[in-house]
Amino acid sequence: MAIERTLSIIKPDAVEKNKIGAITALIEQAGLEVKAMRMTHLSKAQAEGFYAEHKGRGFFDELVEFMTRSPVVLMCLEGEGAISKYRATMGATDPAKAEEGTIRKAFGSNIGENACHGSDSPESAAREVSYFFPEIR
Ligand code: ADP
Ligand code: MG
Repeated sequence: MAIERTLSIIKPDAVEKNKIGAITALIEQAGLEVKAMRMTHLSKAQAEGFYAEHKGRGFFDELVEFMTRSPVVLMCLEGEGAISKYRATMGATDPAKAEEGTIRKAFGSNIGENACHGSDSPESAAREVSYFFPEIR
């Protein structure tokens, strides 16, 4: 498999729980390399633009409210098959359905507050990495 880059976000719920280090450790243990990392408090416009694909869904306003309520940690991750590898490391969207040992199983609260984001395809990874890290693409 090719070397890929993917966008990770440690979401507000996990930052509030003081789990930045624990989640980053799971990322590193999965063999993913942190190429760029920045802590920031997303604006409403940034969160809406990032999740534009979900505009019109019932949970969109709740999602934007959640993602902007406190700081997040943005990361560009790199590795062999990084996109699918990181999705597997995160676990299912709903933490209750996530496998043991995954980030969402360990640190997610519910389907909305699920600790982390990871790009779901090469196309979204390219868009998402350049959305937050324009300098590295
Ligand atoms: P994933 O983050 O696993 O790619 P989606 O792209 O489907 O999942 O959804 C984006 C984010 O929107 C989820 O990670 C979660 O924070 C939120 N979300 C998804 N579905 C729901 C829902 N039914 N209710 C509330 N929030 C949701
Ligand atoms: Mg998604």
